[in-house]
Amino acid sequence: MLLDLTLGMMIYLVVSLFFHEPFNFWGLVVAGFFAGFPDIDFLLFAILRRKYNLVSHRLIHLPLPLITLGITAICAFGWLLVSHLPFSIGYAVALFAIGNLSHFIHDSYGELGIKWLWPFNNTIYQIRGFRIINGDVEAERHFRSLREGVKERSIWQEVIIRARMEPPGEQTISFFGLVFTLCALFYIFS
Ligand SMILES: [Zn+2]
Repeated sequence: MLLDLTLGMMIYLVVSLFFHEPFNFWGLVVAGFFAGFPDIDFLLFAILRRKYNLVSHRLIHLPLPLITLGITAICAFGWLLVSHLPFSIGYAVALFAIGNLSHFIHDSYGELGIKWLWPFNNTIYQIRGFRIINGDVEAERHFRSLREGVKERSIWQEVIIRARMEPPGEQTISFFGLVFTLCALFYIFS
């Protein structure tokens, strides 16, 4: 989560410089939200997991449909609300598309991988180093381990399991500190 937030802040800086946008607090908030956006399905998981025996919150972690629908929605709502937006539609689209891509690349390093080509292909892809590999077997093994005891676990235990899967390491904290400092400099000098 901290890495997604940090990536969102970095994307905010790069996209703002590219679009020649001055510092905008809401742009920073929106960029952080978009970089974590796919994990919003955890809310659906929390509500529906008992009813449908769900073991994972990977419900909208599908890059092709999610990014396409998201860009369409931003263009439609942006066109309706254009006079009220604090930035251009192109800027919001760039934050959304790059933020979501960074999230899916990050998740591809995990055991569950990502179905990058769904609905055309059901394969789960993982990234190891700079290599893209088929992650079907490892993801199934991980799903099986999540399935064990799922009925007895509370939603807080589900949160803790996911937090333990990826505790923020020293490198992530240093990266966050660096990007936070760059954002502060951008605020001061823009
Ligand atoms: Zn995710």
